[in-house]
Amino acid sequence: MRIGAHVRSDSPLDEATSLDVDLVQLFVTDPQKWNKPVVDESLAAVRDSSVDVVVHSSYVINVASLNNRIRIPSRKALAQQATVAAELGALGMVVHGGHVRDGEDPAEGVANWRKLFERQAETGGFEVPIWIENTAGGDRAMARRFDAIARLWDAVGEFGAGFCLDTCHAWAGGEELVDVIERVKAITGRVDLVHLNNSRDEFDSARDRHANLASGSIDPEILAAVAAESGAPIILETPGEGIADDVAYLRGR
Ligand SMILES: [Zn+2]
Repeated sequence: MRIGAHVRSDSPLDEATSLDVDLVQLFVTDPQKWNKPVVDESLAAVRDSSVDVVVHSSYVINVASLNNRIRIPSRKALAQQATVAAELGALGMVVHGGHVRDGEDPAEGVANWRKLFERQAETGGFEVPIWIENTAGGDRAMARRFDAIARLWDAVGEFGAGFCLDTCHAWAGGEELVDVIERVKAITGRVDLVHLNNSRDEFDSARDRHANLASGSIDPEILAAVAAESGAPIILETPGEGIADDVAYLRGR
């Protein structure tokens, strides 16, 4: 089992060293803004090290959006961040499934995902694998419930889209974790990355609040089993003060 953690972009190597992991996930720009990403000193340091990198794209990105003023900058930001991810030699880049708003048709959001890949394919595709992550909330999300993920995959699967399973999001989104890997693979054919997080909130709460592995509403044994079954690299996005314990717990399994 390959275990890594989400780390601060200004000190990725220090955090990898203190956690004793050889895989990190990071943002390449402020996740709440539209700033163009640049490879600064700390990103260059991780690029030049033996630590492997996964990039998490910024939160402002919503390629499903029916609003041009969100969707168009989202496409641009995704391509820019994929370029930087490639410069870092990243294994892949995680992108949230996104959503449409109340009163809008989720099928149009799915169509926007397909258009994203179609347009990018015209120029040779993304420079790193794109891994779409399931999300916890909203009735009009592209990748909350697995029936929605199935509709999304009908549209994007042929472009080689990958999947990132977040266990907190699945649980809070109303999907049981027993057999979750089997059920996801029946839809996507693959799980490329697992965000292994416990949840502060209850099943189907639609709330996205991560907890350390031993301290949330999900049985940690189930989380360890999901991690093992996935066969995919694991990234912990759990609260900082408990990440070292989370790494130790998984290694002990
Ligand atoms: Zn996640």
